[in-house]
Amino acid sequence: STITNHMPTAELQALDAAHHMHPFSANGPLGKEGARVITRAKGVYLTDSEGEEILDAMAGLWCVNIGYGRDELADAAARQMRELPYYNTFFKTTHVPAIALAAKLAELAPGDLNHVFFAAGGSEANDTNIRLVRTYWAEKGHADKNIIISRKNAYHGSSVGSASLGGMVGMHAQGGIPIPNIHHINQPNWWAEGGDMTPEEFGLARARELEEAIQELGEDRVAAFIAEPVQGAGGVIVAPETYWPEIQRICDKYDILLIADEVICGFGRTGNWFGSQTVGIRPDIMTIAKGLSSGYAPIGGSIVNDEIAEVIGNTEFNHGYTYSGHPVAAAVALENLRILEEEKIVEHVRDVAAPYLKQKWEALADHPLVGEAKIVGMMASIALTPDKASRAKFASEPGTIGYICRDRCFGNNLIMRHVGDRLIISPPLVLTLSDIDEMFERILKSLDEAQ
Ligand code: PLP
Repeated sequence: STITNHMPTAELQALDAAHHMHPFSANGPLGKEGARVITRAKGVYLTDSEGEEILDAMAGLWCVNIGYGRDELADAAARQMRELPYYNTFFKTTHVPAIALAAKLAELAPGDLNHVFFAAGGSEANDTNIRLVRTYWAEKGHADKNIIISRKNAYHGSSVGSASLGGMVGMHAQGGIPIPNIHHINQPNWWAEGGDMTPEEFGLARARELEEAIQELGEDRVAAFIAEPVQGAGGVIVAPETYWPEIQRICDKYDILLIADEVICGFGRTGNWFGSQTVGIRPDIMTIAKGLSSGYAPIGGSIVNDEIAEVIGNTEFNHGYTYSGHPVAAAVALENLRILEEEKIVEHVRDVAAPYLKQKWEALADHPLVGEAKIVGMMASIALTPDKASRAKFASEPGTIGYICRDRCFGNNLIMRHVGDRLIISPPLVLTLSDIDEMFERILKSLDEAQ
């Protein structure tokens, strides 16, 4: 029989538990509990199979920047699927959606980031980056300059290559990760690791770990440094102001390529088109995905500067994906970028939504459970603490306060994520001021219930 939205929730959950393996989940317990069945969405609200309306303060997985339910994207997909549903760009062919999207991205991206290699998402794009930087240095006669430095607690994707770039302990514990020649330095998380230093001192100290690592590994061995402008999945970790200028100085001094992973920060999330602009860096490569299509179609890519494109262009780059530049996904992404631009959504974030959210968010630091409250544009976190003065930590096992808060939010029809001792949001960028008020009512209710 056909499985539809109209079936009873329990039946859908039973089928889900029997056959569907959820990513990043303990599928045994989840199957017993039953996953919440999301049936439709509009604007910033999801609807579940019981008819409950849920405020999605995570924009799906940090991706639905323009909000749900935009028919223009559905129409763009249908048009493209009828005209040319698939073709590749491997063997001396190309197509209009890939050309148009690459040209548009070159226009939007800062500096001379003018060349796009497409992938189906951020993980694939970061795998591409590993190949790109190693091929680049090899072509320049420095095949040994192949170590990529990343950061602990970074998230760069879930494939073996991208999870190796990432610094997630749980993923490294799965075996075979990281692959060779990836090196991790500490993250700039002042709340958790700053000790007695001021945030400014700590930011500098953590940036200088990059210089120390380069000196230790050898300048002629280090190919690139990769980082998210604001660490997202690690808990929305905002670096102190001293951090990024020092990172840029070190990359310049030692001729190390700087890769900005803009998968979350890109396309308006931080109040500029790219997070690199917000933190003031000049990357040589940017990883993009998520907000590129607002999650309506799977697409990502790497945008590289003129010099890298020229050097890579000298050789056969033995790399690519069936869905690199997929025409339907590219058409959807183009329509998404048109909406972001024409409806001035990045300006809405910068001038209207983010300032309003910031004032409310920072006031959360007065709540008894909350230590620091950090926010950049429309991504924000709070650190939960039993004692603000000593920046003490709650236990982080299941059943403890972070989980309780997250579950209370879920119960109050608010999707807010929990990472260790932090609660985070990354809502659709089209959130109105009254949506923000509604979100805060639910956040405060959930925090109070969790106390
Ligand atoms: N890079 C960053 C910064 C991310 O946050 C993510 C996903 O959350 C990825 C890469 C991986 O992207 P994808 O899940 O599209 O493969």
